[in-house]
Amino acid sequence: MKILITGGAGFIGSHLTERLLGMGHKVFVIDNLWTGKLSNLESVQEDKNFHLVVDTILNESVMNELIFKADEIYHLAAAVGVRNIMDHPVETLEINVKGTEVVLRLANRFKKKVFIASTSEIYGKHVEHTLAEDDNRVMGTVKKRRWAYACSKTLDEFLALAYHDEKKLPVVIGRLFNTVGPRQTGQYGMVLPNFVQSALLGKPITVHGDGTQSRSFTHVDDVLDAMIGLMNEPKAIGDVFNIGTDNEVTIKELAEKVKEMTGSSSEIEYIPYEKAYGPGFEDMERRCPNIDKIRNLIGFEPKHDLESIIQSVIDYFKS
Ligand code: UDP
Repeated sequence: MKILITGGAGFIGSHLTERLLGMGHKVFVIDNLWTGKLSNLESVQEDKNFHLVVDTILNESVMNELIFKADEIYHLAAAVGVRNIMDHPVETLEINVKGTEVVLRLANRFKKKVFIASTSEIYGKHVEHTLAEDDNRVMGTVKKRRWAYACSKTLDEFLALAYHDEKKLPVVIGRLFNTVGPRQTGQYGMVLPNFVQSALLGKPITVHGDGTQSRSFTHVDDVLDAMIGLMNEPKAIGDVFNIGTDNEVTIKELAEKVKEMTGSSSEIEYIPYEKAYGPGFEDMERRCPNIDKIRNLIGFEPKHDLESIIQSVIDYFKS
């Protein structure tokens, strides 16, 4: 098959590129290298089935040609990382809203199947229980910039479902929960690469707030299993799935675990959110998925526990 990956030079996109090439597909990547990097694609550069276009997904003539040629599309291009979203709110909204609009409109022109990479952020400030796909969303005020990201991705989901229901476009939506693994950079705020790098360098491990906020981390290889599994399952079309693990951990516990596993002498330092992200920031206190839906449909079972996830990131930074 010929597969188009938008954002294929990013952390998840580059792993997906390698995986799909390994499965014998021809892979076309479009990436504007905002947060993606050519070095992420080093291992596939010489592969005759790999084609890279460095451009924005907002370039409709280029996208028209790529989508025309493709049999299916994985749409991963988006603004990523809390720091990026806080620092570049206009670009975040533009790329997430307009970019997905371009992808869906052109995919519909040629009726090509699309995977839309969405995010657990869209659930907002839920704390009560693990998050299931049909739960209500709890959004903060528009004065808190973080929620712009959640709302832009929510709009992407609405648009994808609208194209499916009204135009019969085959779409599959995956909500990714804190994907981590080798190649993820800490540059845009992500906690695990930041903790591991600080621990290895003997620098303070900085926890935002009091560290009682929790997350569930998923290894990128498990995320790929889920995404490809959903795209290969006709019953997933027109529906939304959580992609994650239910290994909830507080950020304080994560810092302690990273310190222990790296044997680091780093201090664990607690800093206020405002110091980390500036005013206008609001965190999610808890975020853990219910993954029954994907489990029941494609038998998805994450293979990496928290220790092996942390170890893979330590190994990556050490090498
Ligand atoms: N965080 C932290 N120290 C860091 C980076 C992040 O304590 O150096 C916290 C962050 O405030 C949040 C959690 O770790 O509570 C997860 O942050 P990340 O940006 O990785 O993901 P998200 O907030 O999107 O879940």
